[in-house]
Amino acid sequence: MAYDFDLFVIGGGSAGVRCARISAGHGARVAVAEERFWGGTCVNVGCVPKKIMVNATEYGQWAEDAAAFGWDVEIKGHDWARLATRRNAEIERLSGIYGRLLKGNGVTTFDARATFVDDHTLQVGDQRITAERILIATGGTAQRLDIPGAELGLISDDLFTLPALPRRVVIIGGGYIALEFACILHGLGAEVDVMYRAALPLRGFDADVRAEVVEALTTQGINLNPDVSPTRIARVDGHLMVNMSNNFMREADAVFFCTGRLPNTHGLGLDKAGVTTTAEGAIVVDEEHRSSQPHIYALGDVIDRVNLTPMATATGHALADTLFGNKPRRASYDNVATAVFTNPPIGTVGLSEEEAAARGPVDVYVTRFTPMRHSISGRKGRRTLMKLIVCQKTDRVLGAHMLGEDAAEIMQGIGIAVGMGATKADFDRTIGIHPTAAEEFVTLRTRAREAGVLPPAQAAAE
Ligand code: FAD
Repeated sequence: MAYDFDLFVIGGGSAGVRCARISAGHGARVAVAEERFWGGTCVNVGCVPKKIMVNATEYGQWAEDAAAFGWDVEIKGHDWARLATRRNAEIERLSGIYGRLLKGNGVTTFDARATFVDDHTLQVGDQRITAERILIATGGTAQRLDIPGAELGLISDDLFTLPALPRRVVIIGGGYIALEFACILHGLGAEVDVMYRAALPLRGFDADVRAEVVEALTTQGINLNPDVSPTRIARVDGHLMVNMSNNFMREADAVFFCTGRLPNTHGLGLDKAGVTTTAEGAIVVDEEHRSSQPHIYALGDVIDRVNLTPMATATGHALADTLFGNKPRRASYDNVATAVFTNPPIGTVGLSEEEAAARGPVDVYVTRFTPMRHSISGRKGRRTLMKLIVCQKTDRVLGAHMLGEDAAEIMQGIGIAVGMGATKADFDRTIGIHPTAAEEFVTLRTRAREAGVLPPAQAAAE
């Protein structure tokens, strides 16, 4: 049968655009449908606008700190509307580039929603379109908790359309988006409460990093409320009231649900195409990103594996090379370096101490110090933590973690080393760059502790 396209991509976000563009470059006839915004979450309501707002908070703090370095700087306040205008213009520019990139590579684009009619046919706006292969790259959507008054709360998308800085904010959730939003809003002048169910935020991160970020944010004046969940939100006299499970209440001008994202598969018609999902709606795929229908693929946040932009683009590129470039390959999900843009930020790659110790004995190296800049500025809540986890048997560095200024920038290079299987000896023989914080990663000489070591009797039995 002759199909309209060799590949039809549903979703013009990080994964879909990369796969479409590279596939077309390999000579395939490709189309993409995007129902909301070209560039997807990252460009429009995720990484990019968020990082611009993180930058905005940094400028304010640098301006305050400049006095200690001899500058006379008068800060008259922050203009939310001016920041929003500049941010939105940048997003529009980038989103436009995404659209043009596709057209420039010969990809047919549809500004429309696409849904399955059958396993080779899609309804795209008011057109029926067939394709030999289909890629589902529809991303995810933020979720609210199912509590009374939930509709009064905002989701992460809404930060980027707020007309003004809310004076008092409650953030529900303890994941990376919750903490980043707390730092942004607090850094721009809001009073912020974060409430989360666990004892520590950032589930899945190294425990030392989780404890240190609590210390840093609390010292700066962000109110962290562990071990609680909201039970109800109500509008009272023009503001919001959040009831908490510990019977306390918080008054707020805005409440954000940062309580996770669900794969965007609702209403896609997957049943008509015979594509199976998990109970949460994530598309089930094999190592080649093939769904239960071998000619229908899925990648990015919709498979809910490593929900990060570089993972979406890397897997999209690899799939295009495999299908149309005569270069079969996979992008690895291991040792993906990542950052949390709190203030100070977190950078991490590889295993946490807990994960590593569960696999066998490890040596743990930890250092904490005040960076030189803040010895001078006197700014509180800016202590740096650096940590290496080293396999006792092989000397390989299994995990590297940092909370401190430039952690995201530093961790990219450490990620290369860890991905290549660098040993502690490799780190030790590397000459540091002085004076930097990064040099501490190559001068960690004293083991803080060992972990994952079995008691002698148990070790002998194994
Ligand atoms: P998306 O980028 O979400 O793209 C999916 C697209 O599909 C959307 O544009 C959607 O409109 C479209 N679509 C959905 N259904 C249909 C349909 N039926 N028809 C047509 N179009 C459809 N990642 C990082 O690496 N670093 C960060 O700092 C970072 N910060 C983030 C901050 C926030 C607030 C959020 C929410 C996310 C952040 N992420 C970050 C995650 C990152 O944005 C995602 O991992 C990435 O965008 C996933 O790409 P994707 O292509 O899978 O999905």
